[in-house]
Amino acid sequence: MKQPNRKRKLSMDSKEHLNQDGCLEQAEEEKKPRDGATPLSHVPSVAAQEAWSWEQYLTEQKAIAAPVELFSKDQSFPEHENGFQVGMRLEGIDPRHPSVFCVLSVAEVCGYRLRLHFDGYLSCYDFWTNAGSPDIHPVGWCEKTKHELHIPKGYRKDKFVWMDYLKACKLQNAPKKLFRNRSSNGPMPKEFQVGMKLEAVDRKNPSLVCVATIADIVEDRLLVHFDNWDDSYDYWCDVNSPYVQPVGWCQENGRTLIAPQGYPDPENFSWTEYLEATQTNAVPAKVFKMRPPHGFLPSMRLEAVDRRNPRLIRVATVIDVDEQRLKVHFDGWDHKYDYWMDADSPDIHPIGWCDITGHPLEVPYRANDVKILPGQAVCPTPGCRGIGHIRGPRYSGHHSAFGCPYSDMNLKKEATLHDRLREQTQANLESDSSHSRSKNLCSLNFNGKHEKVNSQPRLVQQAKCLKIKGKEDIDLDNLFRGLSVAGGWVGCRLPGASSSSRQHESH
Ligand SMILES: [Zn+2]
Repeated sequence: MKQPNRKRKLSMDSKEHLNQDGCLEQAEEEKKPRDGATPLSHVPSVAAQEAWSWEQYLTEQKAIAAPVELFSKDQSFPEHENGFQVGMRLEGIDPRHPSVFCVLSVAEVCGYRLRLHFDGYLSCYDFWTNAGSPDIHPVGWCEKTKHELHIPKGYRKDKFVWMDYLKACKLQNAPKKLFRNRSSNGPMPKEFQVGMKLEAVDRKNPSLVCVATIADIVEDRLLVHFDNWDDSYDYWCDVNSPYVQPVGWCQENGRTLIAPQGYPDPENFSWTEYLEATQTNAVPAKVFKMRPPHGFLPSMRLEAVDRRNPRLIRVATVIDVDEQRLKVHFDGWDHKYDYWMDADSPDIHPIGWCDITGHPLEVPYRANDVKILPGQAVCPTPGCRGIGHIRGPRYSGHHSAFGCPYSDMNLKKEATLHDRLREQTQANLESDSSHSRSKNLCSLNFNGKHEKVNSQPRLVQQAKCLKIKGKEDIDLDNLFRGLSVAGGWVGCRLPGASSSSRQHESH
């Protein structure tokens, strides 16, 4: 295994370290905490942090690190430096709407990670990604690959020209060489084609296997879309993903297949009839290859992005595993912050990843590490250093439970972030409804309430509903917001009446 870069650790003087926690911040108003918080004021003392090392920690804890071989290329030590700079423009996938490609700018660079901002939108929608992410592309990529580009708010779709935009706003595009060429799984077998049907696990509700369509193919990945559901459930995966299975897999394996929403007789769903009715084909079963089991085991240590505060990467322990996922516990934190992550999530890394990539690592909280000056306002959540804010990067820190991403009051609020695309006017929404290439493959009709207005609704009837585990009281309007805030959320579709056949399977 590669050893953490000791030099970096030793060269860090105290000031540098503090700066590093704040990262290479964009020079913008956001940098100043609005609530007057001094977010880094109770950073563990430098001595305490410098004294921390994985080696020593593992010995103390009699623990083992997750072997580096278990990590994929996207999770493991990067081969290249992060060459992105704040302000550079690019194109990329909206994590909340995986079928949508947007105009993005680099808002912050930290180690091998980037905070990306949707041009024209509030910073509360910003998200973090790795510099080698397959979700980002250079300027002009959409045009070249015939994908719809979701342009900055305030621009007319028919008038938007990248080069004019860059010139008028004196912006720089991110050079092509900064984007990784992806071919880790080899090319996509030609048997996989857009529009073909398969059976796929709902990643937000992994006990469900549903009727799905390949909505898009980019390089070695395909976009899974669930028939008659909105695109917030979509996800990109490679063809070897355990989440995708051939048509007929459920029947062969004694599993319940969830029919498309609104299917007239969901309990008697027939692939033959459905393929005929939709004039579509199934992906040939022989081309599916199963990836070997992930190999992570309980008690292994690793470094994991903290989704509640995604600028942070913490020392973490695998505490449970299932076929496709692992449950991560942040060392030193209460178990209520544990959550399940996909074993192939780009947000888990082998130990030493932060050190090698120059990213701060949040080490386990020890009461003695925190030196609080008399009269200093500090976040009351044990272990929280006041970094980050429930309302996104506009506030770089907090000093009360109100802004704390870990406070009990905010743990319940994980679905409160409004949907970026719903900010728009109805007119824009209608013109944007063509953004998805899957528009003709599926349709939606929630009494006109939701934004996907597709031309020819097919098989749409009364919405069949899935029951939400313990969340029956959720406001309908809130449901389609924030579903991508993975974590404590039990994936859900619609509250209220549950159909006879589609109740959430308890497991
Ligand atoms: Zn806090």
